[in-house]
Amino acid sequence: MIKALFRKIFGRKAKATPDAHAKAVVKPSARKRGKGGPQSFGHADHGINPALVSHNAIRVTRTLQEAGFLAFLVGGAVRDLLLGVKPKDFDVATNATPEQIQRLFRRARIIGRRFQLVHVMFGNDTIEVSTFRANQPQDAETDAHGRVLRDNVFGSQEDDAARRDFTVNALFYDPATQIVVDYHKGIPDIRAKTMRMIGDPERRYREDPVRMLRAVRFAAKLGFTIDTGTREPIARLAELMGNVPAARLFDEMMKLLFSGHALECLRQLRAEGLHHGLLPMLDVVLEQPMGERFITLALQNTDDRIHAGKTTSPSFLFACLLWHEVLKLWQEALARGEHTIPALGAAMDRVLDQQTEKLAIQRRFTADMREIWGLQPRLERRTGRSPYRVLEHLRFRAAYDFLLLRCAAGEADAELGEWWTEFIETDSEGREILLTQQTLRDTGAGPAKRKRRRRKPLAPGAEGGSGGGSTDSGGVSS
Ligand code: ATP
Ligand code: MG
Repeated sequence: MIKALFRKIFGRKAKATPDAHAKAVVKPSARKRGKGGPQSFGHADHGINPALVSHNAIRVTRTLQEAGFLAFLVGGAVRDLLLGVKPKDFDVATNATPEQIQRLFRRARIIGRRFQLVHVMFGNDTIEVSTFRANQPQDAETDAHGRVLRDNVFGSQEDDAARRDFTVNALFYDPATQIVVDYHKGIPDIRAKTMRMIGDPERRYREDPVRMLRAVRFAAKLGFTIDTGTREPIARLAELMGNVPAARLFDEMMKLLFSGHALECLRQLRAEGLHHGLLPMLDVVLEQPMGERFITLALQNTDDRIHAGKTTSPSFLFACLLWHEVLKLWQEALARGEHTIPALGAAMDRVLDQQTEKLAIQRRFTADMREIWGLQPRLERRTGRSPYRVLEHLRFRAAYDFLLLRCAAGEADAELGEWWTEFIETDSEGREILLTQQTLRDTGAGPAKRKRRRRKPLAPGAEGGSGGGSTDSGGVSS
């Protein structure tokens, strides 16, 4: 049925359109925006550097065009090219159906259930090719708040522009003619550094509340300002984020946190008063000065690693973002006299239960997070064989990095981090010396007193009287 609809929409016109389009662009008079028609910009107008375009993306558009279809680069790649930035990936939009696309390439796979698209693969490189699709018809199935539940409808190129979120994300670029096709004044918005929603912002946010997060993410990443009309409804509608399926929210969170601009994204979310509801895991944490400092350092560290081309670990960052929630529950339990390790385990369980429900943090991440957290009290124990056993742990490195962040944030003694750095770097003889020195120090100061002093910065605001906890921390490593 969808195929039939598709044929009805495009029919034979599909083959004629690229030529018509190319001619329209050659004639300067035709570039003027007609009645509702798109505006075309040639190379002299947009100045895209063709060297920034991936060869594989060009291969895909050329193959589709040679088979008689329309094919353009779209979305973030065109936006980035116009800003002179090398895109991290390339998406192609075409009027060919997924089956037609697949037949044209040797290694192509149809993916997706909600809306099918095709992954065309060249070695490790994947170009995502999607069929033009229409914005939701008026009678689209929605939830009680207007969120669209199904949008699997093919459409024309114009429809495909209209269903996109922001004007700067709705541009089409044909690498063969070097023409940019602009249906929604995206090029002027790029020049003015403005994020502007296509259509009525409130309705578009209701259709898909994730667009609120995207507005802030792009503004932070690109250094753009969110247009007033696009920004205004966000604060009012932020609570709609609660209706977004957890897996979807998780995907967008990942994009935000690993954009290389996570700190700026968060700063903007807070400046707009949007972190409530938009990012459930951060609601509580950002209200605590100690938590805020720790998270700021963690995000800065992640941004820096991304800019330096280093790897980043989602489990590590999630462990950082949720740490102060765990810490709070843990300290409360210790204050009630519960034992250190079981209390930590219970705190981890509670936080993960809450957050996985909202954010669908996958099991492989939560297992790592537990280990990173669980190793923290073990890193405080610097006698006997304990440090050697910790050193051999699979997650030692992550746990140690985590400890260094805690030291930098002022919630653990800097001396503890320095001790571990030395312990890692020195040889076996050096390690024995470090351990002996530590034992002497511990004995000299008196074990109970010293341990309690070390725990204090760990529990900002917590009452000092957790006697049961401090004695118990001695038995952590077994
Ligand atoms: P990035 O550089 O972060 O990948 P992007 O613009 O490419 O940015 P994607 O999430 O990869 O973002 O989406 C590709 C394109 O699909 C967008 O540019 C936009 O046109 C469209 N799009 C994505 N998500 C939505 C949405 N929620 N609503 C409408 N259009 C969307
Ligand atoms: Mg993209």
